Amino acid sequence: MKTLRLRAGKERSLLRRHPWIFESAIERGGGDSGETVRVEGHDGQFLGWAAFSPSSKIRARVWSFDEAQRIDAAFFSRTIALALQARSRFDIQSDGMRLVHGESDGLPGLIVDRYGDTLVAQFTSAGVERWKAVIADALLAHTGLSQLYERSDASSRALEGLPEATGWLRGSGATDLVLREHGWQLALDIAHGHKTGFYLDQRDSRKRFADHAKRLQFQRVLNCFCYTGGFTVAALSGGAAHVTSIDSSGPAIAQAAANVALNGFAPERAHFMDADVNASLRQFAQAGKTFDAIVLDPPKYAPTVAHAERAARAYKDINRLAFKILEPGGVLFTYSCSGGISADLFHKIVASAGADAGVDGFITERMGGAPDHPMTISFPEGEYLKGLVVMRKP
Ligand code: SAH
Repeated sequence: MKTLRLRAGKERSLLRRHPWIFESAIERGGGDSGETVRVEGHDGQFLGWAAFSPSSKIRARVWSFDEAQRIDAAFFSRTIALALQARSRFDIQSDGMRLVHGESDGLPGLIVDRYGDTLVAQFTSAGVERWKAVIADALLAHTGLSQLYERSDASSRALEGLPEATGWLRGSGATDLVLREHGWQLALDIAHGHKTGFYLDQRDSRKRFADHAKRLQFQRVLNCFCYTGGFTVAALSGGAAHVTSIDSSGPAIAQAAANVALNGFAPERAHFMDADVNASLRQFAQAGKTFDAIVLDPPKYAPTVAHAERAARAYKDINRLAFKILEPGGVLFTYSCSGGISADLFHKIVASAGADAGVDGFITERMGGAPDHPMTISFPEGEYLKGLVVMRKP
């Protein structure tokens, strides 16, 4: 058994059950890509069993803190079964859900989403890459499904020294699917869509947006960074009179328009713009065009804390512009999915955007990722998605 000896004083985070071991914490030792190593403190004390990753800054990720645990097929089978068991206790009103959420489910680097009868997996660490076949078999065995598509094309693969890999891992079938979320239908493309095809993490926020549309009888809605139109369909289903949706991805816009039709909404109620959000917001502000509800769900501006400052400016900019074109009494659903921006910092950014726009508002709700994208108390990095619902003072 290969070992990894940590430098003196570097044991603390592992003792708190945090699963990452950075390159700088290691005194000596190692293994092959994805190989299980015994991690020990400076004094030789056992700390955990981890997967070694020779070219990543996160040099190893812990599978287990239990010395008696063997890292084998039975371990993966049991860990996956526990992740599925947790899902059965979460409130998920959809046939699309995240079954495995990486570190939070004890499987660092593994993402598995279920869309109806099809599973889509992303392997983004050397450890799960090495155990891919075992993991694939366990996923099918525990779900009783036969189709598993691989979307290992995330940029984080490169940090682990792994090449891209996409295609059917088990079984085969259609890659354009329709999922049922709340009461509506949403078509997606698991082969070409973003991530595994859809942003499941915003499920609860889409529901809240539909609820608001119904209660406040939105007339003019603006959905910025609409992707395939999840918030657009939510607003229309809540009875919003008209929704303008913006995204800079042509295929996403086409899918969004198709989703409006799929749910039987009249095309006149939806307008789509294949455009840059920042430029569009500026144009609306100049033209004096206003909305009574706005969604701002931008891509990840700050993957890590190192990008936070520049990202903060970008978030502030779009929020300031959105406040300027928000009607008094109107609501803004604003999000950051950046791990590098804390909930506290995001609140400050939105506050300073409001101050610059000369607008004050009530924070009526704080939002996070849907429960199938859980964070655990031992892994605070799991909190990436945060949102605020702000009602402009009437
Ligand atoms: N709200 C969506 C998810 C948004 S993901 C949902 O519920 O499904 C972020 C989206 O922003 C992506 O679709 C991406 O194409 C788009 N995007 C990124 N930069 C953009 C820009 N500058 N202008 C417009 N759209 C942009």
